[in-house]
Amino acid sequence: MLLNITTTHQPATDLGYLLHKHPDKCQSFPMTFGQAHVFYPESTTERCTATLLLDINPVELVRGKSSGKGEGTLSQYVNDRPYSASSFMSVAISKVFRTALSGRCKDMPELVDRAIPLTVNLPVLPCRAGISFLRELLEPLGYQVEGETLPLDPTFSEWEDSVYIDATLHNTLRLCDLLSHLYVLIPVLDDDKHYWVGEEEIDKLLRHGEGWLNNHPIKEQITKRYLKRRWSLARRALEQLSEEDSQDIDEKDIVQDREEAALEKPISLNQQRLELVAETLKNYRVKRVIDLGCGEGKLLKYLLKNKSIEQIMGVDVSYRTLEIAKKRLKLEDLPFHQKDKIKLIQGSLIYRDKRFNGYDAATVIEVIEHLDLNRLVALERVVFEFAQPKLVIVTTPNIEYNLRFESLLSGKLRHRDHRFEWTRQEFQDWANKVANRFNYQVTFQGIGNEDDEVGTPTQMALFAS
Ligand code: SAH
Repeated sequence: MLLNITTTHQPATDLGYLLHKHPDKCQSFPMTFGQAHVFYPESTTERCTATLLLDINPVELVRGKSSGKGEGTLSQYVNDRPYSASSFMSVAISKVFRTALSGRCKDMPELVDRAIPLTVNLPVLPCRAGISFLRELLEPLGYQVEGETLPLDPTFSEWEDSVYIDATLHNTLRLCDLLSHLYVLIPVLDDDKHYWVGEEEIDKLLRHGEGWLNNHPIKEQITKRYLKRRWSLARRALEQLSEEDSQDIDEKDIVQDREEAALEKPISLNQQRLELVAETLKNYRVKRVIDLGCGEGKLLKYLLKNKSIEQIMGVDVSYRTLEIAKKRLKLEDLPFHQKDKIKLIQGSLIYRDKRFNGYDAATVIEVIEHLDLNRLVALERVVFEFAQPKLVIVTTPNIEYNLRFESLLSGKLRHRDHRFEWTRQEFQDWANKVANRFNYQVTFQGIGNEDDEVGTPTQMALFAS
């Protein structure tokens, strides 16, 4: 049973630090069900692959278990467990890569939090529900999925294909997130845990699913399969997940938004930002615009005033925020001709959504920094690959400018919910990469007072296709 993890992050050999396993060594670890080995089939500064090989001893699996409860002895000894990725792989990941899974790295603490290009290959992945299920599990998390169904036996072409897939997954994300996804989703695909599923499995699921499971479109199916269809456990886990769900859209965020606004107020940055965005839309003669992550509707208010704009859609993941937007915009009292002009919908920017299609322009104003870096890749595809508006405007704080906010403690971000803030170089590198990948031209503009040393407080990228 094999798991290969490859990176092309430079220098690629940093993978050794992240996994806490030296690229020049082959190391072995005893498991209750056999032996795990870690080695690097390739390790250059351009490309580095770590392999986790699990050598399962089927005899060990049977030892100590009572036999004869209808289980044929032959299938106890002759089965797919030694060859296909299953919950044994999850156990090995959690033992052998424990520190990496928990997102710690003493030698390179800054690298742990960076999204890096990673490719995973699982040569024999059980997938009875077919490759489309594999896609349903992984694409919402930003993975590009390639898979080839393995034949039962290549010498007998009349036999059907097997239920195994040689799967290759590409994504740009933190290594700890990748390992968490594999830890949870490999047993979900296999749908047959090797150990008894008890209460503590809920904890494991919630711990390793933190930050992604909650928003996953098929979280119910994942939870039920992970908990080996023990419905009572699955229900409890789902209840706890939905508690988390309501937390991220409660007042906490709204209070924090106001704190950020207070910090930026002396330079009325917010106003300058909105004016510039509205002005740009006007210059490009945009008629249909979608504001992604519209929040309380500050930009929508500006857009409503613009007579040349015919259709406005506001999207936000937070229902409460949308309710506030509805009140602020006085949607109920709009004159009849304006009522059809604007629509607010609840939706997430990291899942492909047909409702985002058909707009001339999309605005993503002070939103990207609220997403974990590994989710940003999903947003990129949702906006640039699937929705494909002709114009996309993205704004985000320039972290270099934070030095000039007197009330902001050094090293702190502007908002407690910001997952990151970028320097001008980081933002431009990201935007150039996105423009290249999706065939857009990008230009940059600063927003707010320009400081010779640290630039402007907000940075804007304008993508045109
Ligand atoms: N664009 C607004 C709000 C910025 S605050 C303005 O400039 O005032 C960031 C907003 O993004 C919040 O309202 C938050 O609910 C929303 N958001 C965060 N993650 C999101 C996601 N995945 N999908 C949709 N909206 C999201």
